[in-house]
Amino acid sequence: MSQENAQSGMGFAFSDHARITMKASAGILTDRQMELVIRSNYSQDIAHQQDSKVHFDNCCFEEGAAYVMEEWHNIETEMDPYSDNALITFGRLLHTVQDFYSHSNWVELNQFVNPIPIWDLNVNSLPAGIVSGTWAIGTPKRCSDQAPTHRQLNKDDLNSEEGKKIVASGPNQGKPLFSLAQDAAIRATLEQFKRLQNINKIQRS
Ligand SMILES: [Zn+2]
Repeated sequence: MSQENAQSGMGFAFSDHARITMKASAGILTDRQMELVIRSNYSQDIAHQQDSKVHFDNCCFEEGAAYVMEEWHNIETEMDPYSDNALITFGRLLHTVQDFYSHSNWVELNQFVNPIPIWDLNVNSLPAGIVSGTWAIGTPKRCSDQAPTHRQLNKDDLNSEEGKKIVASGPNQGKPLFSLAQDAAIRATLEQFKRLQNINKIQRS
Protein backbone atom coordinates (compact mmCIF):
# COMPACT_ATOMS: atom_id res chain seq x y z
CA MET A 1 0.00 0.00 0.00
CA SER A 2 1.38 3.35 -0.96
CA GLN A 3 1.87 6.10 1.54
CA GLU A 4 -0.90 7.98 -0.22
CA ASN A 5 -3.32 5.11 0.28
CA ALA A 6 -2.32 4.78 3.88
CA GLN A 7 -3.00 8.49 4.33
CA SER A 8 -6.41 8.27 2.72
CA GLY A 9 -7.29 5.40 5.01
CA MET A 10 -6.93 7.47 8.11
CA GLY A 11 -10.36 9.05 8.31
CA PHE A 12 -11.04 12.74 8.15
CA ALA A 13 -7.60 14.32 7.83
CA PHE A 14 -6.02 15.74 10.98
CA SER A 15 -7.20 19.19 10.06
CA ASP A 16 -10.75 17.91 9.51
CA HIS A 17 -10.89 16.01 12.80
CA ALA A 18 -9.53 19.16 14.45
CA ARG A 19 -11.95 21.44 12.63
CA ILE A 20 -14.93 19.24 13.46
CA THR A 21 -13.88 19.09 17.10
CA MET A 22 -13.32 22.84 17.37
CA LYS A 23 -16.63 23.70 15.70
CA ALA A 24 -18.47 21.47 18.16
CA SER A 25 -16.60 22.42 21.33
CA ALA A 26 -19.23 24.91 22.52
CA GLY A 27 -16.48 26.86 24.28
CA ILE A 28 -16.44 24.59 27.31
CA LEU A 29 -12.71 23.81 27.23
CA THR A 30 -9.64 26.02 27.51
CA ASP A 31 -7.19 26.19 24.60
CA ARG A 32 -4.83 23.87 26.44
CA GLN A 33 -7.58 21.35 27.08
CA MET A 34 -8.69 21.51 23.45
CA GLU A 35 -5.14 20.83 22.35
CA LEU A 36 -5.06 17.68 24.48
CA VAL A 37 -8.37 16.50 22.99
CA ILE A 38 -7.33 17.24 19.39
CA ARG A 39 -3.91 15.57 19.75
CA SER A 40 -5.43 12.50 21.30
CA ASN A 41 -8.07 12.34 18.55
CA TYR A 42 -5.31 12.59 15.92
CA SER A 43 -3.15 9.90 17.49
CA GLN A 44 -5.89 7.32 16.91
CA ASP A 45 -4.89 7.30 13.24
CA ILE A 46 -1.20 6.94 14.09
CA ALA A 47 -1.27 4.33 16.82
CA HIS A 48 -4.42 2.36 16.01
CA GLN A 49 -4.73 2.12 12.25
CA GLN A 50 -5.20 -1.65 12.45
CA ASP A 51 -7.97 -1.55 15.03
CA SER A 52 -11.22 -1.63 13.02
CA LYS A 53 -13.44 -0.50 15.89
CA VAL A 54 -11.57 2.77 16.41
CA HIS A 55 -12.53 3.94 12.90
CA PHE A 56 -15.72 1.95 12.29
CA ASP A 57 -13.84 0.11 9.53
CA ASN A 58 -14.70 -3.38 8.27
CA CYS A 59 -18.38 -3.13 9.33
CA CYS A 60 -17.35 -3.21 13.01
CA PHE A 61 -20.40 -1.26 14.20
CA GLU A 62 -20.94 -3.30 17.31
CA GLU A 63 -17.31 -3.11 18.38
CA GLY A 64 -17.08 0.61 17.56
CA ALA A 65 -20.18 1.48 19.57
CA ALA A 66 -18.97 -0.66 22.49
CA TYR A 67 -15.59 1.09 22.31
CA VAL A 68 -17.18 4.55 22.59
CA MET A 69 -19.23 3.37 25.60
CA GLU A 70 -16.14 1.87 27.21
CA GLU A 71 -14.24 5.16 26.86
CA TRP A 72 -17.21 7.03 28.37
CA HIS A 73 -17.13 4.64 31.27
CA ASN A 74 -13.43 5.43 31.71
CA ILE A 75 -14.18 9.17 31.79
CA GLU A 76 -17.07 8.77 34.20
CA THR A 77 -14.95 6.87 36.68
CA GLU A 78 -12.36 9.69 36.77
CA MET A 79 -12.62 12.01 39.77
CA ASP A 80 -12.47 15.00 37.45
CA PRO A 81 -14.02 14.71 33.95
CA TYR A 82 -11.69 17.55 32.85
CA SER A 83 -8.48 15.90 34.06
CA ASP A 84 -5.80 15.41 31.42
CA ASN A 85 -6.48 11.70 31.46
CA ALA A 86 -10.23 12.17 30.98
CA LEU A 87 -9.70 14.65 28.13
CA ILE A 88 -7.27 12.33 26.35
CA THR A 89 -9.90 9.60 26.62
CA PHE A 90 -12.52 12.03 25.34
CA GLY A 91 -10.36 12.84 22.29
CA ARG A 92 -10.06 9.15 21.51
CA LEU A 93 -13.80 8.52 21.53
CA LEU A 94 -14.49 11.63 19.45
CA HIS A 95 -12.34 10.19 16.70
CA THR A 96 -14.52 7.10 16.52
CA VAL A 97 -17.76 9.07 16.69
CA GLN A 98 -16.56 11.27 13.80
CA ASP A 99 -15.27 8.45 11.60
CA PHE A 100 -18.70 6.77 11.57
CA TYR A 101 -20.02 9.42 9.17
CA SER A 102 -17.09 9.31 6.75
CA HIS A 103 -16.46 5.56 6.81
CA SER A 104 -19.98 4.10 6.65
CA ASN A 105 -22.78 4.55 4.11
CA TRP A 106 -25.03 6.18 6.78
CA VAL A 107 -24.89 9.48 4.89
CA GLU A 108 -25.74 7.79 1.58
CA LEU A 109 -28.71 5.98 3.15
CA ASN A 110 -29.95 9.27 4.65
CA GLN A 111 -29.01 11.61 1.81
CA PHE A 112 -32.63 12.63 1.20
CA VAL A 113 -33.10 13.72 4.82
CA ASN A 114 -32.09 17.18 6.02
CA PRO A 115 -30.34 17.42 8.35
CA ILE A 116 -28.64 14.02 8.21
CA PRO A 117 -29.70 12.24 11.42
CA ILE A 118 -27.18 11.53 14.14
CA TRP A 119 -26.72 7.87 15.02
CA ASP A 120 -27.48 7.12 18.68
CA LEU A 121 -24.63 4.55 18.79
CA ASN A 122 -27.17 1.79 19.39
CA VAL A 123 -26.59 -1.04 16.88
CA ASN A 124 -30.28 -1.94 17.02
CA SER A 125 -31.15 1.37 15.37
CA LEU A 126 -28.83 0.89 12.38
CA PRO A 127 -30.73 0.72 9.07
CA ALA A 128 -30.75 -2.36 6.85
CA GLY A 129 -27.98 -2.13 4.31
CA ILE A 130 -25.53 -0.30 6.55
CA VAL A 131 -21.90 -1.07 5.69
CA SER A 132 -18.54 0.50 6.23
CA GLY A 133 -15.51 0.24 4.00
CA THR A 134 -13.19 -2.74 4.12
CA TRP A 135 -9.70 -1.90 5.37
CA ALA A 136 -7.19 -4.63 4.63
CA ILE A 137 -4.86 -4.19 7.60
CA GLY A 138 -7.68 -3.70 10.10
CA THR A 139 -9.18 -6.36 12.33
CA PRO A 140 -11.65 -7.72 13.04
CA LYS A 141 -13.45 -7.93 9.69
CA ARG A 142 -17.25 -8.10 9.77
CA CYS A 143 -18.26 -7.14 6.20
CA SER A 144 -19.80 -9.46 3.64
CA ASP A 145 -17.98 -9.97 0.35
CA GLN A 146 -20.19 -7.34 -1.31
CA ALA A 147 -19.02 -4.48 0.89
CA PRO A 148 -17.14 -1.62 -0.77
CA THR A 149 -13.53 -0.95 0.10
CA HIS A 150 -12.54 1.94 2.30
CA ARG A 151 -11.13 3.65 -0.73
CA GLN A 152 -14.45 3.41 -2.57
CA LEU A 153 -16.68 4.43 0.34
CA ASN A 154 -14.78 6.96 2.45
CA LYS A 155 -15.87 10.57 2.59
CA ASP A 156 -12.73 11.71 4.41
CA ASP A 157 -12.23 14.69 2.14
CA LEU A 158 -13.77 16.52 -0.78
CA ASN A 159 -11.47 14.78 -3.26
CA SER A 160 -12.34 11.23 -2.25
CA GLU A 161 -14.26 9.17 -4.81
CA GLU A 162 -17.41 9.10 -2.69
CA GLY A 163 -16.96 12.40 -0.83
CA LYS A 164 -17.11 14.44 -4.02
CA LYS A 165 -20.39 12.88 -5.20
CA ILE A 166 -23.21 15.42 -5.30
CA VAL A 167 -26.71 14.68 -4.03
CA ALA A 168 -28.95 14.78 -7.11
CA SER A 169 -32.30 15.75 -5.63
CA GLY A 170 -34.21 16.42 -2.43
CA PRO A 171 -33.41 18.81 0.42
CA ASN A 172 -29.66 18.19 0.15
CA GLN A 173 -29.54 18.67 -3.61
CA GLY A 174 -26.21 20.05 -4.79
CA LYS A 175 -24.29 19.16 -1.63
CA PRO A 176 -21.25 16.85 -1.79
CA LEU A 177 -21.46 13.75 0.43
CA PHE A 178 -18.27 14.92 2.17
CA SER A 179 -20.04 18.07 3.39
CA LEU A 180 -22.98 16.06 4.68
CA ALA A 181 -20.63 13.66 6.50
CA GLN A 182 -18.69 16.53 8.01
CA ASP A 183 -21.80 18.38 9.13
CA ALA A 184 -23.22 15.24 10.75
CA ALA A 185 -19.88 14.58 12.47
CA ILE A 186 -19.91 18.12 13.90
CA ARG A 187 -23.41 17.68 15.35
CA ALA A 188 -22.52 14.22 16.70
CA THR A 189 -19.41 15.72 18.33
CA LEU A 190 -21.48 18.48 19.90
CA GLU A 191 -23.64 15.82 21.57
CA GLN A 192 -20.50 14.26 23.05
CA PHE A 193 -19.34 17.65 24.37
CA LYS A 194 -22.76 18.12 25.99
CA ARG A 195 -22.42 14.76 27.67
CA LEU A 196 -19.02 15.79 29.06
CA GLN A 197 -20.49 19.06 30.32
CA ASN A 198 -23.33 17.18 32.03
CA ILE A 199 -20.95 14.97 34.00
CA ASN A 200 -19.42 18.13 35.40
CA LYS A 201 -22.83 19.48 36.44
CA ILE A 202 -23.75 16.22 38.11
CA GLN A 203 -20.50 16.11 40.07
CA ARG A 204 -20.77 19.70 41.21
CA SER A 205 -24.41 19.60 42.26
ZN1 LIG B 1 -9.81 7.11 11.88
